[in-house]
Amino acid sequence: MAEAEVVSLNELTRYLRRLIEKRLWLKVFICLVLGAGVGFVLGPGTDWLSGQRANDWSAWLALPGNLFLRLVQMIMIPLIFSSIITGIISNSSDQLRQMGLKLLAYFLTTTLLSISIGSALALWIKPGSRIQGLEAPAASDLGVDAEGSLLQRLPDSIGNLLPNNPLAAMVSGEMLGVVIFSILIGIAVMQLKGSNRTAVLKLLEATQEICMTVVGWAMRLVPYAVFGMVAALVLSVGLQSMTSLLVYMGVVVLGLLVLLFIYLLAVALLGKRSPWKFLAAVREAQLLAFATTSSAAVMPLSMKTADEKLGISSKVSDFIIPIGATINMDGTAIFQCVTTVFIAQAYGMELPISQLLLVMVTILAASIGTPAVPGGGVVVMASVLQSAGIPAEGLMLVIGVDRILGMFRTAINVTGDLVACVLFQRWLKPDQENN
Ligand code: ASP
Repeated sequence: MAEAEVVSLNELTRYLRRLIEKRLWLKVFICLVLGAGVGFVLGPGTDWLSGQRANDWSAWLALPGNLFLRLVQMIMIPLIFSSIITGIISNSSDQLRQMGLKLLAYFLTTTLLSISIGSALALWIKPGSRIQGLEAPAASDLGVDAEGSLLQRLPDSIGNLLPNNPLAAMVSGEMLGVVIFSILIGIAVMQLKGSNRTAVLKLLEATQEICMTVVGWAMRLVPYAVFGMVAALVLSVGLQSMTSLLVYMGVVVLGLLVLLFIYLLAVALLGKRSPWKFLAAVREAQLLAFATTSSAAVMPLSMKTADEKLGISSKVSDFIIPIGATINMDGTAIFQCVTTVFIAQAYGMELPISQLLLVMVTILAASIGTPAVPGGGVVVMASVLQSAGIPAEGLMLVIGVDRILGMFRTAINVTGDLVACVLFQRWLKPDQENN
């Protein structure tokens, strides 16, 4: 009897190991759950560790995640640079013009859609009306003239999009500047003829390959990184501090789920693919986004997923993924809308339609400008709130749960880029069935 149990236990272990070895997403998922469990056991809820010791544990637990992030960041700038330029040169100028304009229109449309979903849900469910005791300061105390400040800053913000020193943008890891510089250089390289053009292309292709080799090494760390990062997060934040804002969090997550549903409909109806197969193909990238809360950190895996699992031509994915990871943040747009309306409601402020429209336009720009790093979406919120005349101190209400919401919105941001790849693959080759 005991022997039989041992045999079946061994078989089970072997079965589980086989299952896990083949499926990175499952390994990552298990590590995520284990990490949350370990974080909870060691965290403030159980009183096992004193404050200082909890900090020490948290630093050790986060180590594999930090190593992973550093490895990926190390190759991020050359990868963006080489991918965008090779993506541009491998298209003809007609194809490029067609794809560039369509992509811009597509990103604007999905961002506007996300903003509408976020605002509608927040206005309907009114998560902020449950918060009491906050007083809105008089408009004069805020020291901002909502429309004036936005309009005054707009020309400067547009001008600053073009980096005057691309090396400085690279050194400081400013992705939007690097993306814009790469697009310009890519278009300039297209004007080169003969051997010069081939030489540049060869060099950039080699750079891309080298970066992807480093990514391969980083990927081996992913399960440990996910385990440690989630454990460290739960350990330092504690699960209890999240419960008081459940309705607000629920509205953000609901908005993200509505958007996910629309994405899947688009994959089925416009991309002519099975949404289930799509979800199965992208789950590793989603889980990694969930754990790292950085679209930039997931970008290399998104490129691999697009090429190897979704069968997207690299002409399309090399162009869309780096640009999408930088400017297409639909999940962030939903979060920023719900948060703005939530904080206004918490202060008992009414947002008239004109102010709401202003908020929506600001968020359109803010989500494009949000850095693809952990907490990027909440950092730019201060200026969104200021532009709308809402006290930026209201952010203190949500800051405690931002890491959790960052996980969900980053997973949706990354999914949005992969959906764009599927649709563009189809739109650019309408005659080719992809399924
Ligand atoms: N972390 C998100 C991302 O990288 C941005 C955000 O914080 O909303 O996509």
